[in-house]
Amino acid sequence: MAITKVWLDESENECSMCGACEAVCDAVFEVPEKLKVKDGADFAANEAEIKEAADSCPVGVIAYAVDGSDARAN
Ligand code: SF4
Repeated sequence: MAITKVWLDESENECSMCGACEAVCDAVFEVPEKLKVKDGADFAANEAEIKEAADSCPVGVIAYAVDGSDARAN
């Protein structure tokens, strides 16, 4: 399964702007205020880091989908 979409999902919690995701994977994430997924970020090359960032986000707002789906996989 390949990550094909990454986004900020604030349906349950809000990004606390802690910056942990950027520290784990600055190729994909930046936190100018709230989480921003960088334009043109290479998800395939950063899958492990995306999953690590999503798992370590203290409020669980980093969402990803796989294989062209729009449904959150994590
Ligand atoms: S780790 Fe989560 S709460 Fe912290 S800045 Fe990133 S998305 Fe926001």
